[in-house]
Amino acid sequence: MDKHRTIIEPFKIKVVEPLAMLTREQRVPILSSAGYNLFLVLAEAVTFDFLTDSGTTAMSANQWAAMMVADESYAGSRSFVKFEQVVQRLTGYDFVIPTHQGRAAERLLFEAVLKPGMKVPSNNHFDTTRANIEHIGAEAVDLVIEEGRDPTSTHPFKGNIDLAKLEEFCQKERSHIPFGMLTITNNTGGGQPASLENIRGASAIYRKHGIPFIIDACRFAENSYLIKIREKDQATRSVREIASEIFSLADGCMMSAKKDGLVNIGGFIALHDRTWVESLRSLLILTEGFPTYGGLAARDLEALAVGLEEVLDERYLEYRVAVTKYMAEGLNKAGIPTVQPPGAHAVYIDARAFLPHIPAHEFPGQALACELYLSEGIRSCEIGSAMFGHYSDEKGSKNFVPAQMELVRLAFPRRVYTQSHFDYILEAMSEIVAKKSSLKGLRLTYDPPFLRHFTARFEPVS
Ligand SMILES: *Cc1c(COP(=O)(O)O)cnc(C)c1O
Repeated sequence: MDKHRTIIEPFKIKVVEPLAMLTREQRVPILSSAGYNLFLVLAEAVTFDFLTDSGTTAMSANQWAAMMVADESYAGSRSFVKFEQVVQRLTGYDFVIPTHQGRAAERLLFEAVLKPGMKVPSNNHFDTTRANIEHIGAEAVDLVIEEGRDPTSTHPFKGNIDLAKLEEFCQKERSHIPFGMLTITNNTGGGQPASLENIRGASAIYRKHGIPFIIDACRFAENSYLIKIREKDQATRSVREIASEIFSLADGCMMSAKKDGLVNIGGFIALHDRTWVESLRSLLILTEGFPTYGGLAARDLEALAVGLEEVLDERYLEYRVAVTKYMAEGLNKAGIPTVQPPGAHAVYIDARAFLPHIPAHEFPGQALACELYLSEGIRSCEIGSAMFGHYSDEKGSKNFVPAQMELVRLAFPRRVYTQSHFDYILEAMSEIVAKKSSLKGLRLTYDPPFLRHFTARFEPVS
C-alpha cells in the first residue's frame, strides 16, 4: 500500500497525563508493603500499566465531543437511539439492550435463559462468563482446538472451536443446550482469533441442531482484522464486511464495550429475534435501569456509538496488531519466550520456560511480574499458579496442583502508549534476562478463600 516500513500511531495527541517515574529503590518498599501483589500497588506508583486492556482506552476528540451533546433523558434518550442504530448497522440485530459492562450482559442473559443442569459450549469461556454460568448451576464447556492449549503452536487461529467435538457434543447433549457460544478473540486462550471458516462451521452446526448461537464479541474488530490479514481470500474485504458476516452467522451477541467499544465503561446484548427480549428487559429494569440507558449515562452511550465506528478503522487496527507483534518479537529477541503467535490485545510471557529454576509452588509467573515492576515499573498480570494453582489436600508444596501454564500477561491499553514507551521497555529487558537465574520464587503469606490473585500476599523465599 505505501512504502513505509514503520507503522505509526494513526493519531496525534491532544490530552496528556504525566507518567509516574519512580526508581527501583522507591519501588522496592512499595512492592513489599503490597505483599508482592501488583493488584495492591496504587496506580500512581506504576509507570506502564499493562494490567488489563479493559476500560483503559484513551478516547478520541470525537468521543469527548459526542459526550457533550448527550441527551440525559431518563426514557427515550436521543443518545440511546444513536447508539442503537450504530449497533444495528454493525451487527444486523434488531434488539439492542445496553448494560453497564460485559458481565452484566452475561448475568442478564443467563438468568433469563439458563436453568441448572444446562450446558453451554464455547471455544473457551472467559472467567466471568464461566462464573455466571456456574452461578446458575449450569455447565460451561470449553471445546477449543488442541493447538489452542499449546503455547508453542504457531497455528494462526488458535481460538478456533473444535468442530468435530462440537458436533459430537451437540448430538449427545442437544436437549440440555439452550444456546451455544464462541468468544472472539479467545481471551482465556491467549487472545487468539477464530477464523471465519471456523465461525461458519460452528454456525452451521448450531443451526443444524436448532441451537441459538451467541457471540462473545468483546474483541470483534481485532478478530476481524486478524481474519483479514491471516485467512485465505479475506485480504480484499473490509473489516466491517468481515465483522458483519460474523454477526450474520450468529443469532446475537454480548459485548463488553470496555474492549473494542473504545470506551471506559459499557456493554450490551444484541439479538436477532424477539423471544428473549421481554424477559431481558424486565430483568434489566430490575437491576440495571430503564431499557434506553441500562445502567449507563447517556454520555457513555454517545462515546460508545462513536467508539464502535472508530474501532473499524483499519489504520487503527493495523497499528494495534503491530504493537503486539513488535513487543512479542522484541521480547523473543531479548530471550524471553512468549505464547505464539501474538494476538492483538496482549503478549503472554511463558514464565515456566523463562524461569525453569523456580518451581510452580513458588509462582514463577508472579516472581517475573514482580521483577518487571521493580526494574521497569511495569504492572502485568500473572495468569498461572498464583491465579489458578490449588492444594489437593492440606496446604504444603507436596499437595500443590499447579496451573496448566505459567503466564505473565502484558495487556496493552488502546491508544495509550507510544512506540518510544515500548522501545524503552524492550531496552531494559536484557538486564532481566542477564540476571534471571538469580530471581527467586515467592511463598504465600495470606491465601484468601477465593479469587486469590486479587488479594493474596506473598514474600520472597530466602
Ligand atoms: C472482559 C470480558 C468479559 C467481561 O466483561 P466486563 O466488562 O469486564 O464485565 C467477557 N468476555 C470476555 C471475552 C472479556 O474479555
